[in-house]
Amino acid sequence: MKTPVKDQDSKLDIIEHLNQDHQDEILAITQLHIDANTTKALIKNIYQEGGEITYIVDNQEKQGYIEFPFSGEAEETILYLAYDAMLKQGKALDKSNKHYFEVVDTSFITDNIIRLTLKSSQPILQDYAGYSFQFALQKLKKLPKPTNKTQKDHKLSFFNKIFYQFLLWLYTKLNSDKRKKMMASFSKNLRFYTARKIMGDNNDIVWVDIYTHNESAGSLWANSLKKGDIIKSVRDHKEKTSNLDSGKVLFIADETSIPTIIAVLEKWNNPIAPIIINLSYYQCEQNYLNKNDCPEGTQIIRLIGEYEQELLKTLETLKEIDIVFGGVENKLNQKVKKYFREHQSNIKQNRLKGYWKKS
Ligand SMILES: Cc1cc2nc3c(=O)[nH]c(=O)nc-3n(C[C@H](O)[C@H](O)[C@H](O)COP(=O)(O)OP(=O)(O)OC[C@H]3O[C@@H](n4cnc5c(N)ncnc54)[C@H](O)[C@@H]3O)c2cc1C
Repeated sequence: MKTPVKDQDSKLDIIEHLNQDHQDEILAITQLHIDANTTKALIKNIYQEGGEITYIVDNQEKQGYIEFPFSGEAEETILYLAYDAMLKQGKALDKSNKHYFEVVDTSFITDNIIRLTLKSSQPILQDYAGYSFQFALQKLKKLPKPTNKTQKDHKLSFFNKIFYQFLLWLYTKLNSDKRKKMMASFSKNLRFYTARKIMGDNNDIVWVDIYTHNESAGSLWANSLKKGDIIKSVRDHKEKTSNLDSGKVLFIADETSIPTIIAVLEKWNNPIAPIIINLSYYQCEQNYLNKNDCPEGTQIIRLIGEYEQELLKTLETLKEIDIVFGGVENKLNQKVKKYFREHQSNIKQNRLKGYWKKS
């Protein structure tokens, strides 16, 4: 049976998200369920009972279908299939990549954005705009002793394997609400913050700019940090920026994603100047984006306060956009994606992301 998913917009968002950011997981699922020799796989369509996959074997494109093992939202089910496949292939489910940092300095660079200057315990082997760390919202007593562990040591131990098998079994037994809660509990005290700049002779000094607001967990943590504190990140993430070198790019950034955009602009290599829509709740955060940070000819549109309606109206005035890139609140991200799908289907790539969730 292939029953269409009711909410087509969510379905398209999920397909786009999985194909952009979870190709390793889709590949693992395809290798386990369709063909072990698959070298690349993408989701083509999702139905209530399963997903259609386009995959490559021996340089030939093929089509396949994988049934979902239980009913639920597509993203949850695909996540389950991915973890199950990776576990069966003995791969680490969690691509954790820890970094330890000492806080060298903290200062407010706008009224609400704190800049942490951090010294990494090891050189950061990345020269990449849009590189972020998922920080644990805690302070450590001291730096751990260096180990010689590398990525290949992330093979699952026997006990980890049993533990993950138990979690996956539990996952199938829960209802959708409880599954969501279980996943949320894993990242409750973790937050992604972007490396605004990586510097120093050893590539070990990092600026991280954190938007603080009210009494949120991330804000309290950032505000509590002092020179000499030791902190850690458990994972890292690379935004895909390689596609920004040609075509007309529209950046849409709020206080949380503007550090990514400025990091990208520092490595700008596109002959066509971009458009930047800079969103902020307060006027003062607009100072973060300086005209001098932008390539010549950049059009900057500043929207302040409750900007959602104004943003959607502004999009109607912008034509001939090739690529959209940036980060905004999750629901706003869905609305903007829907707008482009319905009104400007000629854009080549929409890489706008949900950077945070309104509750
Ligand atoms: C890849 C990536 C990179 C990121 N890089 C950065 C970065 O460099 N700098 C940065 O500041 N953030 C960045 N973020 C976003 C950051 O992780 C979120 O701001 C964070 O998840 C919000 O955490 P919090 O603890 O402040 O609030 P939460 O605990 O998530 O929420 C608490 C309350 O605050 C509200 N809230 C949350 N965020 C905001 C907001 N931005 N404005 C208004 N209200 C809000 C929520 O509605 C909720 O009521 C990034 C996110 C991603 C996915």
